[in-house]
Amino acid sequence: MFVHLWILVVLPAVAFLLSTMFSDISLLKMVSDGYGAVTLLFYFCILVAVSWLAFRTAFSGFALGFGFFTVGYTPKEIRKAIIHQRIARSSRFQFNQHMQQELEILREKESELEIIQKVFSHLSEAVVITDVQGTIASINNAFVEITGFLANDIIGQNMRLLKSGRHGTPFYVEMWQELLTKGLWSGNIWNQRKNGEIYPQWTVIKAIYDRDGNIRNFVGILSDRTDIRESQQQIEFAANYDILTELPNRILLKDRLSQSIIQAKRHKQLVGLLWVGLDRFKQVNTSGGRLFGDQVLKILAQRLRDGMRENDTIARIGGDEFVLLATQLDDIAHFRLIAEKILQLLGHTLQLGGHTLHFSACIGITVYPIDVDCAESLLKHAETAMHQAKKLGGNTYQFYTQQMGDVAMRRWNTEVGLRRALEHKEFVLFYQPQYDVFTGALVGVEALVRWNSPQFGWVTPDQFIPMAEETGLIVPLGEWILMEACAQNKRWQDAGFPPIQVAVNVSPRQFKSPHLVEAVEKSLLKTGLDAQWLELEITESTFLDDEKRAIEILGQWRRLGLHLAIDDFGTGYSSLSCLRHYPVHSLKIDRSFINDIAHDDQSAAIVNAILAVARGLKLTVVAEGVSSVEQLEFLRQSGCHKVQGFLFSPPVPENEIVELMQDAVFVSNLHTPANTWPGHYSMNEICSELT
Ligand code: C2E
Ligand code: MG
Ligand code: MG
Repeated sequence: MFVHLWILVVLPAVAFLLSTMFSDISLLKMVSDGYGAVTLLFYFCILVAVSWLAFRTAFSGFALGFGFFTVGYTPKEIRKAIIHQRIARSSRFQFNQHMQQELEILREKESELEIIQKVFSHLSEAVVITDVQGTIASINNAFVEITGFLANDIIGQNMRLLKSGRHGTPFYVEMWQELLTKGLWSGNIWNQRKNGEIYPQWTVIKAIYDRDGNIRNFVGILSDRTDIRESQQQIEFAANYDILTELPNRILLKDRLSQSIIQAKRHKQLVGLLWVGLDRFKQVNTSGGRLFGDQVLKILAQRLRDGMRENDTIARIGGDEFVLLATQLDDIAHFRLIAEKILQLLGHTLQLGGHTLHFSACIGITVYPIDVDCAESLLKHAETAMHQAKKLGGNTYQFYTQQMGDVAMRRWNTEVGLRRALEHKEFVLFYQPQYDVFTGALVGVEALVRWNSPQFGWVTPDQFIPMAEETGLIVPLGEWILMEACAQNKRWQDAGFPPIQVAVNVSPRQFKSPHLVEAVEKSLLKTGLDAQWLELEITESTFLDDEKRAIEILGQWRRLGLHLAIDDFGTGYSSLSCLRHYPVHSLKIDRSFINDIAHDDQSAAIVNAILAVARGLKLTVVAEGVSSVEQLEFLRQSGCHKVQGFLFSPPVPENEIVELMQDAVFVSNLHTPANTWPGHYSMNEICSELT
């Protein structure tokens, strides 16, 4: 009874579970009476195919088995192979049913795949499937056609193989970033075909994700844009080039001119437009015909193109008119040379159709930035200049303005020259000694810059400082002067000379530079010169623009320990009362007053007044431009402290100042109040010693 109950409940449950959950075939060893078990299986698990495996070999057992609707019968004594065979046969019933369904699904999928495969391979767009690293897994026919790479060449290779080299790393970094974050990228890529040809491709790349949301593959669809580009190029060509000569037309010329102006502005260069009008070209058309004229124009255009630098643009701007755009030049003289070259190129004899022809032209020249600074006006002016040249009878060239040819040209050349001089270290410092009036000691030198130009020889500061100021070049030049003067003074000290002050001129424009304070500190720091041995000379006009700022900066310098002087005193606008607020140490009386002190009462009165004020304000006074013994005598008697001038020495190069320093008597009581200075030497002694 117990056995039967167990069979009733457990066996069908196990059989059912096995049949539905696991496999197509389940072998159950049944403990119960065989017939009963089969019956139960049948009732409870309709889907299960049962094969009878029993001890009985007799026909009765066999019949019984089938009687219970088993699908097979196997006597236990027979061999394993037979059991397998039987089991297989008996389970085929269920298996077949299952397989049937699976096959059905597969067939459906297969036909779907077939369709996809067909679409994939017949697409006119190249399709490529890669893994996450970009290794190519699959391509279609169009890919082979467009890139020239066969499947064997490329499958397993990285997409990098197609790189043209036209895009920089940032392009690819951006592309990958977009792909990895958004899963989609599209854009134009220049790729390389197998034959090395570089071509444009519109590319869409899509990421394929797995169930976990990780990128499994990339699918790229690449469409060749060469045709479109070619037709675009044709349209662009027609819009920008002259069809006959294939030279740029006016539109492209203007575009390039505007670009060149931007570049020239940045690099401080000149841009020249040379408008070339052929002389008497109409005669060629009327006598030889239009076609003949066209042939001639083509030849002349070719000559111009071949004869000019590659980065210059030659454009055809009208029937018999060309314009040369010459860039990256810094000397106006070059434009003359270019104009002469054009006339020469066009002047060569031309043989065509049995005719011998001679050509000449008129050229109008405008130059940016000397003439104007906008493309349209430059073109207009160049044309006007060309017509001016025509009026002169032909075969010549004209600048737009005559003034441009001389004054402006000189100005520009000086500016360019100065810039080059700075780069090539053509500036030199001269030094003019300053003497103590009473002791005759050399107490300081003024550093005065000179330009040793390979083109112009020695150039004095009067000739280039104003230009350097106007162009702002005074700032870098001034920084160099400061550094050099400090370094030189330190070298003298290191060589064992008693310390003296070196005076450096600071122009008003230089004073406005926000870098000046820094430049002064840097010069002292870098050279190791103590601040007390540097004197800065400023002029009264320095206070004009922003008196408050000037006083502030001078105050800072004074605190640093620097010595400060007002140069050319008396020539500016500052009132004597203002002097109280200026934190300076000394005044340098301008040489125009010193010149006449011995003969002109007014000059003498001014000098005396300055000396009186200086004395009251406890300022040291230096007289500049002392050139006679009378002047020196007057100054000594009036209580002037220091002198500088041709009477003692003009500004001299460093090696000569060393000689003067070796002969000189030194004192270091620079800050002693003037009225207590000892008068060691008589004037005659000083003069005989110094001259
Ligand atoms: P400055 O600073 O007043 O320099 C004195 C000028 O007077 C110097 O001319 C000097 O050669 C000249 N001089 C000195 N003694 C006599 C004399 O007895 N008779 C005559 N006739 N002239 C004398 P220099 O060197 O030609 O300099 C002219 C000006 O150029 C300077 O006047 C100064 O304003 C400026 N300069 C010179 N060097 C520099 C510099 O390194 N930086 C700046 N910013 N300006 C400078
Ligand atoms: Mg000076
Ligand atoms: Mg001066």
